[in-house]
Amino acid sequence: MSNVYDIVVIGSGVSGLMCGYKLEKDGYKVLVVEANNIIGGRTRQDFNFTSYPVELGGEMIHGGDTLYYRLAMENKWELFEVFSMDLFNSPINSTYLYLGRERKLIRADQRDEDIQKLADALVSLSDEIDNPNREMNLLEHLIKKQVPFRVLGLADAIYSKTWATDLDRIGVKEAAREDSKPNTIPNNYKVQQSSKIMLDHFSKSLDINLNWRVKHIDTTKDEKLVKVTSYNGQVVQAQRVVVTVPLQILKDGDITFTPELPERKKIAIKTIGMDGGMKIIAKFNKKFWLNNCQLVLCGDSPVPQIWMDGPPYRPLVPGQPSEYVSVGFITGDQAKAISALSPQKQIRTFLDQLDAMFGTSENGWTPASDSFISHMVYDWQKNPFVRGAYSYPSIIPSTYPYKNYPNEILAEPIDNKLFFAGEATATTYDLSTINGALETGVRVYEELKTSLPISNKLQSKPKM
Ligand SMILES: Cc1cc2nc3c(=O)[nH]c(=O)nc-3n(C[C@H](O)[C@H](O)[C@H](O)COP(=O)(O)OP(=O)(O)OC[C@H]3O[C@@H](n4cnc5c(N)ncnc54)[C@H](O)[C@@H]3O)c2cc1C
Repeated sequence: MSNVYDIVVIGSGVSGLMCGYKLEKDGYKVLVVEANNIIGGRTRQDFNFTSYPVELGGEMIHGGDTLYYRLAMENKWELFEVFSMDLFNSPINSTYLYLGRERKLIRADQRDEDIQKLADALVSLSDEIDNPNREMNLLEHLIKKQVPFRVLGLADAIYSKTWATDLDRIGVKEAAREDSKPNTIPNNYKVQQSSKIMLDHFSKSLDINLNWRVKHIDTTKDEKLVKVTSYNGQVVQAQRVVVTVPLQILKDGDITFTPELPERKKIAIKTIGMDGGMKIIAKFNKKFWLNNCQLVLCGDSPVPQIWMDGPPYRPLVPGQPSEYVSVGFITGDQAKAISALSPQKQIRTFLDQLDAMFGTSENGWTPASDSFISHMVYDWQKNPFVRGAYSYPSIIPSTYPYKNYPNEILAEPIDNKLFFAGEATATTYDLSTINGALETGVRVYEELKTSLPISNKLQSKPKM
């Protein structure tokens, strides 16, 4: 019976770890299986590039009233605040907007009339929640709202690139629903020790099999146990199974099911979109950007979002020179294009853009190139067990036959044996984020407590 568990959790991202951690604490016999050779999924860190850890995937805590924030507070993880999510009304003037075609850098609170029109359209997007047209995309909506063509690229950088996709793939009604979800404290925070501290917290007493890539899940009706088979032919069985793999893995059919997934689940998987994402992280020996600049949203540019790291947020290491970092966050179609470039061209593209944004006659026009030390790239499209960034509020085609949102259907358990967590299943909380993923881990934990009361857990062998 050594390979029989109460619950097998597939995937060791934050949703799977959160769920497994809570179940294990309650006394269930839990196994987490992970295809990769490390835990964490889309939260992953590098500890060698700078004197402080660099986040290669999920980075910010979006909001001070979130589960992630509360976890950090409870466990005394050290946080620091960065740019506000409330882009247009932030009291901290640290966000800049860049109009690539005009080579113009504008502080967000000093926006011109055209940008104000865009701001108004984006801020009022949540009003579209009752829009009966589920097929309307954000590009069509902004044109209808007479947002000037000149700033549509900026709309893409501000809004759709945050959702890791493009303007014409965002469904307006779905986006409105996301924008209406609760988040009353719009501040962004980062964990000084990195998200690794959370992974360690959840995983320290969990049983985790790495390099264990699930190929097949058998929930045949009359069998009491669910059978999970790996690509290497190993088998584990459990009373309940939780699937937390990225949406793209389900779309690509990496895991097959007996019996097949219900039609509504298949349609939900097809309807929700997930595009590409990558980061270029560059290190400099000088701070060449404007003193208060933390974030630049770059319209009509290869790198749509750039944020700054290093001093004053990071502690100085005695005897070591300061390291100033720019993170290029590239998603949607730009991520596909930059992913196809050679490593030399990728960094050249980033440096050229930074030079164009911050170059002046005083600093010699090429301040980024002149102070560049080194860089690293993490391309999530090439991670074999993720293959993209995260899900986004998608267009619902008129042929979509259900009243429920596709994310709600994706979250539905099957036959009281198979449960679904992960960022794409976030229904009441924020889709796509670390926090949303954590919340889905808690949701499935609650579902399992009802489905498999602790009195029905497997009996461990009596101690001799
Ligand atoms: C570049 C980038 C930047 C981001 N920035 C932020 C941010 O600043 N703030 C924020 O809140 N969120 C951010 N996110 C999103 C956030 O990281 C994710 O939403 C969250 O980490 C997803 O967690 P998850 O548990 O749903 O999925 P994952 O972390 O993807 O976990 C799923 C796991 O399943 C494993 N798996 C896949 N196939 C199999 C298989 N067949 N068998 C077994 N295991 C399998 C995968 O290897 C993976 O470990 C970012 C994401 C990216 C990519």
